[in-house]
Amino acid sequence: MDSNLVEIFSSVQGEGPSVGESTLFIRFAGCDLRCSWCDSPHTWKPSQSCRIEKQRGSGKFLKVENPVSMNLVLDAAKNLSASSHRWISLTGGEPLLQKSLPEMASALKALGTKVQLETHGLEFRRLAEVLTSLDAISMDWKLSKDVKVAGGPQPVSFSPLHERFLGLARAVGLLTVKVVITPWTTKSEIEEISLSVAKIAPNATLVLQPVTPSGTVHNAPAAELLLSLARLAETFVQNVRVIPQTHKSYGAL
Ligand code: SF4
Repeated sequence: MDSNLVEIFSSVQGEGPSVGESTLFIRFAGCDLRCSWCDSPHTWKPSQSCRIEKQRGSGKFLKVENPVSMNLVLDAAKNLSASSHRWISLTGGEPLLQKSLPEMASALKALGTKVQLETHGLEFRRLAEVLTSLDAISMDWKLSKDVKVAGGPQPVSFSPLHERFLGLARAVGLLTVKVVITPWTTKSEIEEISLSVAKIAPNATLVLQPVTPSGTVHNAPAAELLLSLARLAETFVQNVRVIPQTHKSYGAL
C-alpha cells in the first residue's frame, strides 16, 4: 500500500528516553491537530513530494513524488542501513492517520531494527491494528487549551481519548507519555495526567518536555515551574523525566 510521506532520513532521536540514539525516521504527512507550538506545519497537509536521504549522514536528498510505494520505502530503509540503527521511528504529522501504517510497520520490523511509533495519542482504534509490530510508543498527552482540532469540533478535554489509547499502548515494551510544558501549564493539569498514567500504565515513563518556543509560543517555562511540576508528577508516577528537545541545538530537523 502507498503512503504520503514528507521524508526518510537518518539521524539521532532528539527527544524522550531514547534521546541521542541512532534512528531512521520515516515522517508521514498529514495531521488533524494544530498544536500552538508545532514546529512542523509543513506536515499538516498531504505532501506533493517526499525527500529521501541518499546515504546515511550525507544530508543530501533526492525527491520523489507522493504517494510513495512500500517497496520504495523498504529500498530507502535498506540503502540507509536501517539495521545499523537502534530504532526506526514512524513519525509525522500523525502516522496513525494513514492506512498503510500496519503494513509498513510490519515490513520495517522484519528488517531487524526496533520500531517506535511517535503519535499524538488519540487514534486508539488505529493503534490496535499496528500494535504487534511496535517495540516502543511515544504518545503525547495534549491539553485542549494548547491544541486545536483541524476542521472538527473541539473537545473540552483530550483525556478520555488519551486514556483509551494508553490502555492499549501499555502492551508494548517501552511506553512513553510526553506532555509539553508551557509557561501556563498548571499543577492540576499535571496531577490529572499523572493520576491517569499511574492508574492505567504504571510502568510508562512520563516525560515533561519544556516547550521549544515555536509557532505562537514564544517563551519556555521557568525552571521553578518545570521542577515543581516534575516533583508533583513523581508523587504519582514512578518514572518521571524532564527532557528538553535536543535536535534543535545542533540544527537537525
Ligand atoms: S500533533 Fe505533532 S504534527 Fe500535529 S500539530 Fe501537534 S506537534 Fe504538529
